[in-house]
Amino acid sequence: MSDISDYYDLSRIRPEVQAVLRRVNELGPRFAERAKAVDDEASFPVENYRDLADEGFLTLCIPEEFGGMGFSMGEYAMVGAELGKFCGATALTFNMHNSSMAWSRFMFEMPNLTPEERAEFATLRERQFRRAIAERAIYSQPISEGGQNWTSKPNQTQCRAVEGGWKINGFKKFASLAGYCDYYTIVCTEVFEGQEPRHEDTMLFVVHKDTPGLTIKGDWDPLGMRGTNSRDLILQDIFVTRDDLLMPRGIFGKTLANWPHMMATLSPTYMGVAQGAFDFTVAYLQGRIPGQPPIDRRMFATKRVAVSKMYARLASMRALWWQAFGEAKGFPTKGEVMRMYAAQFNVMEGVQEIAAMAIRTCGGQSMLRSLPLERMYRDSRCGALMLPYTSEIMEDYIGVLALYDMDELDDAPGDLDGARTSLWRGEGSAVKGLR
Ligand SMILES: Cc1cc2nc3c(=O)[nH]c(=O)nc-3n(C[C@H](O)[C@H](O)[C@H](O)COP(=O)(O)OP(=O)(O)OC[C@H]3O[C@@H](n4cnc5c(N)ncnc54)[C@H](O)[C@@H]3O)c2cc1C
Repeated sequence: MSDISDYYDLSRIRPEVQAVLRRVNELGPRFAERAKAVDDEASFPVENYRDLADEGFLTLCIPEEFGGMGFSMGEYAMVGAELGKFCGATALTFNMHNSSMAWSRFMFEMPNLTPEERAEFATLRERQFRRAIAERAIYSQPISEGGQNWTSKPNQTQCRAVEGGWKINGFKKFASLAGYCDYYTIVCTEVFEGQEPRHEDTMLFVVHKDTPGLTIKGDWDPLGMRGTNSRDLILQDIFVTRDDLLMPRGIFGKTLANWPHMMATLSPTYMGVAQGAFDFTVAYLQGRIPGQPPIDRRMFATKRVAVSKMYARLASMRALWWQAFGEAKGFPTKGEVMRMYAAQFNVMEGVQEIAAMAIRTCGGQSMLRSLPLERMYRDSRCGALMLPYTSEIMEDYIGVLALYDMDELDDAPGDLDGARTSLWRGEGSAVKGLR
């Protein structure tokens, strides 16, 4: 099994972060052992979450002043990638939880908030942070609506003002952690009588799992990432108040468009899955897989060439990805955004290549379901299709940013029906970035 010193320059990582990365590697074998049953049953890694909570890792992105660990986005990403080596579903769902915390954390720090917005935000986020710590609460982040093309149109899940708050109605597809989280961070559009729904009226509410009107529906029998339990969520007349807002009204459009790395946080999981597939291949060829006959297969030149190719791909993926996450911040430069898009693309495509090469290299026995590689292979397939930064969309965004000047973006062909809603458009493009 690889060590963090194999792929990171440890002199650039804070000791407290190294300690967490090492602790994840100590816990990892437990997570890996549980991964098969979770995958077979398409259930949820409940015990892994208990372990993560015991270690305090559910507070990674919560600022230290509230009792959290105060990790930066780049530091959080490294932890997610270590988890992904052992159990992709744990890492992916862990990201949904941490994203909710990270939105409250980093959007609050954005320099373009007014003093009034910041004051309102301070109260809201303190409520969530304190609650998350006191209750060891797990948050999910259901945004997708499936077929509604949520990146191009305002969310179809809507809230309407009623006395004392709002009522939310709608539907969420792929609500990872459905039935296993304590709170759902619901993204919806506030609608007003006689006015078309608008992206800039996007609102985020935190809804407790037992709130009347919340139902989990549908089967969950997917190809990969089976332990994420990403079933459907029906929201019917969910009553929420101002206190339930994750961020104040209007902040989503103003900040998220200027913090584009926030939507790249699915990639740490797949970086980890790629590393896991590589590590498995090395151990397998060495004959060092626990419970397997100690057959040494290293003498075949073909295997050594294959491992070299896998390593070369993995190392370049890791280097770009690590740099890109180290640059994550509000108001990045164009170069930083393009590197992040390229890192996202490389990881989501590269993980599939590495997992496929791993199966080819290890050979017939490696596709048996008694070994973890075939699960990694299936899991690896799921990243490239996750909106809003799918591989297809990254190809479009990188090409557009490379070829057009910033003032030409609005007229660049191919943006029919607002396909480029989540494209970064430079400083001060807050609302335009969420048409
Ligand atoms: C294992 C797993 C876990 C997930 N967990 C979550 C979660 O916790 N929260 C969450 O919000 N979502 C989650 N998702 C959903 C994911 O982020 C995507 O929204 C979903 O995979 C998109 O697939 P779809 O078929 O529903 O796409 P649809 O929304 O039906 O879109 C149809 C097609 O159009 C493409 N498309 C849509 N918009 C654009 C655009 N602007 N430009 C170009 N092409 C576009 C899509 O990529 C897709 O191919 C999860 C998905 C998976 C596989």
